[in-house]
Amino acid sequence: MAELTKSGLLKWLRETQPSRLQELYQQADAVRKQHVGDAVHLRGLIELSSHCVRQCMYCGLRQGNRDLPRYRMTREEILGCARQAERLGYGTVVMQAGEDDLLTPEWIAEIVQWIKRETKLAVTLSLGERHHEELRLWRSAGADRYLLRFETSDENLFRVIHPCRVSGAPDRLTLLRQLKHLGYEAGGGVMVGIPGQSFASLAEDILTFHVLDLDMIGIGPYIAHAATPLGSGALRPAIAVSEQAPNSEEMVYKMIALTRIVCPDANIPSTTALATINKLDGRKLGLKAGANVVMPNLTPVKYRRLYEIYPAKACIDESAIDCNQCLRGQIHSLGRFAGQGPGGRGTSQASVSIPPGAHSQLVQLHA
Ligand code: SAH
Repeated sequence: MAELTKSGLLKWLRETQPSRLQELYQQADAVRKQHVGDAVHLRGLIELSSHCVRQCMYCGLRQGNRDLPRYRMTREEILGCARQAERLGYGTVVMQAGEDDLLTPEWIAEIVQWIKRETKLAVTLSLGERHHEELRLWRSAGADRYLLRFETSDENLFRVIHPCRVSGAPDRLTLLRQLKHLGYEAGGGVMVGIPGQSFASLAEDILTFHVLDLDMIGIGPYIAHAATPLGSGALRPAIAVSEQAPNSEEMVYKMIALTRIVCPDANIPSTTALATINKLDGRKLGLKAGANVVMPNLTPVKYRRLYEIYPAKACIDESAIDCNQCLRGQIHSLGRFAGQGPGGRGTSQASVSIPPGAHSQLVQLHA
């Protein structure tokens, strides 16, 4: 069955016929509607710090990128963003940063406690690979969710593009299991079209989402950043041309749709990276292919450009208020509505009838 499913996924990932792809997106959209409903949850993103001690070959925040001026938000700025999230009617704030050792465990814990005490917001952290004890502390301070993409399930490729900080540290899949064990809602995800990433490994990524039983799954295109070894072409992982997955919009929609079918009740964002490669309607097309979450940016505009994980990020100069209005407009234009409250997994207003086997739907679709 697992093999059948993998080959079914692979066929879809290689599908190029537009009418067949429309069928796939429609099927994913129906699964989305049935399992998580028409609500689109808004998660306010706060990019706390662009300092990073890591050397990820794909990411513009890597320590080796000396041209990027670095910033770290103050506690007051972060709390101001959380207040704004409440005013704008968001249910969640996502606190994201590079791996910055000066974001000390105690400092983060205090901010989480303050937000949980003073607001009704769910708090999601996305602070990279941190010690089990730190993750435990933040959970006990009230953090609800943690995002840590595993980027690719291809271990060899991951090792090449994501050098270890300390040898023997737990890998991201292990950390995701630890996060679940600590009682976090756990979010993983991948980039699509990384140089060296095969179609087959993308099929494995989807199966890995399922096996890990992730609560949130972020999928976006890989976007080359010229100040990184992978983006400049200095690093070229070997792969046959016919095996290389493209970092195209279409490839991302296929991944979102297949992920929705295989993981019917997960929260899946239509990502900023997708909106970056199709500024006109990437976000909407993601929402029509199975996604049910968007992440409006709350980071003060003066810092936005400096959180340059990849270039030409969408919505870089928009104020939080404009971002909010624009996204709500897009959601309504699809006949959907903005979700109320924290919008955790399993709290949607959709019918919660027992799903028909997701895998059999997938096989039927390809019959
Ligand atoms: N330090 C945190 C947050 C990193 S930024 C962490 O490592 O988890 C969040 C995500 O941005 C990463 O997980 C990665 O999937 C994505 N990202 C980084 N560089 C990118 C690039 N060049 N193109 C597209 N997405 C990228």
